[in-house]
Parts: sequence; C-alpha cells; structure tokens
Amino acid sequence: MSSGFFLTEKQVKCENCGGLIQIPLTTDSTVITCEFCRSVYEYNPEVHLVPKLRFEDEEKQTFEYALATGVLIGREGSSNFITIQSDLNPSLKQNICIRNPYVSRCPHLRIKMQDEISISSCGESKRVINKKKCTVEDCKSTNGTAVNDHMLKLGEPWMLKHGDRIVLAPNSQLPLAIGFEETVQNP
Ligand SMILES: [Zn+2]
Repeated sequence: MSSGFFLTEKQVKCENCGGLIQIPLTTDSTVITCEFCRSVYEYNPEVHLVPKLRFEDEEKQTFEYALATGVLIGREGSSNFITIQSDLNPSLKQNICIRNPYVSRCPHLRIKMQDEISISSCGESKRVINKKKCTVEDCKSTNGTAVNDHMLKLGEPWMLKHGDRIVLAPNSQLPLAIGFEETVQNP
C-alpha cells in the first residue's frame, strides 16, 4: 500500500492525470470518477488510515501507541523505560516519557497531525482515503532526531510515511528507534 497525493480535505489530485477531483460530502460508500481521465477510485468515508507508533522496551517487548492528536516525546528520569500519559499532565512536559540519558527533556521531539485525504493503492484497486498527515520535528534536542537515515535539521518538519523509523539520539550510545505505521481502520 502506498500513499499518493493530497491537497485539502475536499479535493484530491488524480494519481493518473494530476487533475483535481472533488470529494463528495457523503456518508455512504461510493465510486469517484476523475472527470479528466476517467480513472475510478473507491471512497468510503468511514474508512480511515490510523497512524501508530511502535516502541520496543528493554526486554524487546513491543507496544503500540495510536496517534489521535499530536504528541510530545521526551526524557523523564524517574519514569519507566517508556511511560505513556493518557492526557498531557501539566507537571510533565511530554505525553510519552522515556528514561534514556541521551533523550532530551523539554521535549525531544514533536509529532503534529492534520486531516487529509489521499489516494492509496490496495492491490488492483485504488481508493481515496481519510488519513492524518503526520510530521515529526526535532525540538532543539541535544542529540538530535533522524528519520531513517535522514538527520532532521532544526525547524524542519518531516512528513512521516508508513514504515518509517524515527530515531532519537541516533549517534549516541543508546539510540532509540520508534516505528511509524499506518493501518486501515474499517469500522
Ligand atoms: Zn485523472
């Protein structure tokens, strides 16, 4: 599955011809045809692509964190290896606290989310799907953040895609990798 072009919530760019397709305001499953090249896309407004973070703890156990809103990730010395706050606790500066001396405190990185509609290929069929555009940004951390092999520059938001690995403090003795995944949620 690969994600394609996006523009706004109401329009999407045709993958074949680049023409703008209007997304109908519907609650029912429908078929959308590009008026320029007659490409056909499926659209079910109930189907969403849900972004998730995947962590691995000291015992190599993995757990997931479904991203519903943006998130702040940083160090909290007294917590467990990884602690997830359900709400942003005002006494803590981050939603996800990590006990790792190379991760910055205030916080290390931020993930922002924005609604978008994009085209996804699923086997033979193509569909227009509701998803979240997720961008990761390093928050002036001491040891930096990389996405895959790309070291983020200061103030450079980086768009995340399925299968990416966000690495905190990549050049330290204890780099921490977080997987980014998008899964289809079909209620
Ligand atoms: Zn087209």
